[in-house]
Amino acid sequence: MTHIAFIGLGNMGLPMARNLLKAGYPLSVFDLQRSAVDTLVGEGALAADSATDAASRAQVVISMLPASRHVTDLYLGENGLLERLKTGTRVIECSTIAPEAARKVHTAARERGIVLLDAPVSGGTSGAAAATLTFMVGGDTEALEKARPILAAMGRNIFHAGPAGAGQVAKVCNNQVLAVQMIATAEAMALGVANGLEPIVLAEIMRQSSGGNWTLEKYNPWPGVMEHAPASNDYSGGFMVELMAKDLGLAQETANHNGNSAPMGALALQLYRLLLKQGKGKQDFSVVQQLFI
Ligand code: NAD
Repeated sequence: MTHIAFIGLGNMGLPMARNLLKAGYPLSVFDLQRSAVDTLVGEGALAADSATDAASRAQVVISMLPASRHVTDLYLGENGLLERLKTGTRVIECSTIAPEAARKVHTAARERGIVLLDAPVSGGTSGAAAATLTFMVGGDTEALEKARPILAAMGRNIFHAGPAGAGQVAKVCNNQVLAVQMIATAEAMALGVANGLEPIVLAEIMRQSSGGNWTLEKYNPWPGVMEHAPASNDYSGGFMVELMAKDLGLAQETANHNGNSAPMGALALQLYRLLLKQGKGKQDFSVVQQLFI
């Protein structure tokens, strides 16, 4: 079976790597935090002392790192991994990073005979644990088909978004829509309640009317409207404000790069930065409701 090197065993990477082990893939793992490596070694993975060490045994390298600079450092920096990979190694880069950074790594990989896919995910830590992530993949169709069984061990929906970098573009577009919807819903909930409506009644009317959207269906930001939503659990769990702010920043970076106008995304970013300033970075992104109360 394909030997996989997994680099970056944080909140997302660790459960994703665990699902590869469960699916029977031989796995070499590396993270700057030794404790994460030790956890997976206890479950059957091989420990590596560096990313290069992990990749030396592998046909496929998967990385799941915090941001663009970590990814470009890993692959293109001093002692960059791309220089050290055997020709024919396949790379699946799952971090959420700027499309431009993803394209840079794609180009460098291609020049060295390495096939790379950008494959950011949505579904959060619960999706990573349950192997129900959505992968948005950029790169060659053929490379995706080869990678599909590996991705299927970690996720449920696998989309080919287009060529190099397209997975990252799809990811920032999706999260920008989500943020804007959440803010619009929170604003309307506050307006209705301030004018005498019961939150549950208002939520249901909008859900079934032309204002209906994903946040009203699954994730209402008003406490008590949906029993299992983070809003009803003190805005804990779910998708953190700091991650939403990061993704909105990437959306703006992408828009600026091409001269696109993305004013709703820009406003959403400013509101999420305000929440960061208020010390709410670790809370679920539906906590934006509190800006309107
Ligand atoms: P995290 O900070 O929990 O984990 C990142 C891991 O990478 C850490 O364990 C860190 O030690 C390790 N790392 C950093 N540089 C390294 C290097 N050079 N070599 C080896 N290991 C290194 O982050 P996370 O929540 O797991 O998110 C990972 C990526 O997934 C991010 O790009 C994030 O935007 C994206 N994402 C996260 C979520 C979520 O809900 N957490 C959802 C979707 C996408």
